[in-house]
Amino acid sequence: MATATPLYETYMRAPLRFERGEGVWLIAENGKRYLDFAAGVAVNSLGHAHPHLVEALKVQADKVWHLSNLYEVPGQETLAARLTAATFADKVFFTNSGAEALECAIKTARRYHYAKGSQEKFTIITFEGAFHGRTLATIAAGGQAKYLEGFGPKAPGFLQVPFGDLDAVKAAIDDETAGILIEPIQGEGGIRVASREFLQGLRALCDEFGLLLMLDEVQCGVGRTGKFFAHEHYGITPDIMAVAKGIGGGFPFGACLATAEAASGMVAGTHGSTYGGNPLAMAVGNAVLDVVLAEGFLEQVRDTALVLRQGLASLKDRFPDVIEEIRGDGLMLGIKGRVPVAELLGAIRAEDMLAVPAGENVVRILPPLITTAEEAREGLNRLERAASRLQAAQPQRATA
Ligand SMILES: *Cc1c(COP(=O)(O)O)cnc(C)c1O
Repeated sequence: MATATPLYETYMRAPLRFERGEGVWLIAENGKRYLDFAAGVAVNSLGHAHPHLVEALKVQADKVWHLSNLYEVPGQETLAARLTAATFADKVFFTNSGAEALECAIKTARRYHYAKGSQEKFTIITFEGAFHGRTLATIAAGGQAKYLEGFGPKAPGFLQVPFGDLDAVKAAIDDETAGILIEPIQGEGGIRVASREFLQGLRALCDEFGLLLMLDEVQCGVGRTGKFFAHEHYGITPDIMAVAKGIGGGFPFGACLATAEAASGMVAGTHGSTYGGNPLAMAVGNAVLDVVLAEGFLEQVRDTALVLRQGLASLKDRFPDVIEEIRGDGLMLGIKGRVPVAELLGAIRAEDMLAVPAGENVVRILPPLITTAEEAREGLNRLERAASRLQAAQPQRATA
């Protein structure tokens, strides 16, 4: 391994080099096939080299790559119309990433109050364990010391309270509060699922105090939980929502969705992006929706999720020295280890399977949404072998 790399050394990369992908499989340069239940951290929603996405990108590549937002981009209008038809939203702004979708959400919320004459309302309440991206505003929103350290004063206007604590939220609301921002399921934080009562409680607080409810569905959205968006499980709608990852299926883009009311402050000149809504991204986004919104697709996601969930529950029962808890919803699942997460991940990788680490000693299982029940069982077999090997290596746990 060369120690001198010309790359920033910000990542601790696994020594794996992949050459191509097919569906749920990634094929390494040495020909080895890996079962990809990491999906580029919930990005490759339709797996690798999905023919419909490949075709959409190729067709657009032959026409025009980039126009800028100086002109009308028909793909933006089509995709925005489809997103608004399928959600609570009336308005969409396209970005290139999740953090930028969050930046737009934050600006939209602050600008809403400003336009109403309440410029003092700019604080966003967020939650411990949250992850909203790596820009200066989104690390302040996430509030995690490890991401803030050394980057100067934390951007003002963000206040963290414990996840799930409605009383703490209520106590944090004051004359400066603009909105509440939450991931319905915390991803990086360790697959922590917000309860129904909690999300409904946040909606009620927002209604009571005139605040905007902002959801970060960058990771849990676009079919990941078996609904188009995770909040559909909760019987609530937000005012603003950030989307990215799965919506591009591997092409980098995101979107900020809002009600007409919430977006009312975002008038001409208030926001912009050179690449946002680029024709290539829009072609892929429309193709992703062709598949995800097709009749029966989300039902199939829920069926596969059930197989996986039941299998994981059984592994937890059979390997109690290795697995403490199974968490999550749909195809956004977490295995909380009794062994260090690096060991669990290492054992999984030794079975030629990929997963993703998260907070609270959790391994995230994020298969592509196209995963079949049979492929889910293949994943479970590999997880079983990994758990079995770790269990055998564990000192016997003291049992009562
Ligand atoms: C990945 C992620 C982001 C940041 O997205 P980027 O595209 O990396 O900027 C924000 N919020 C959540 C919940 C995420 O999972």
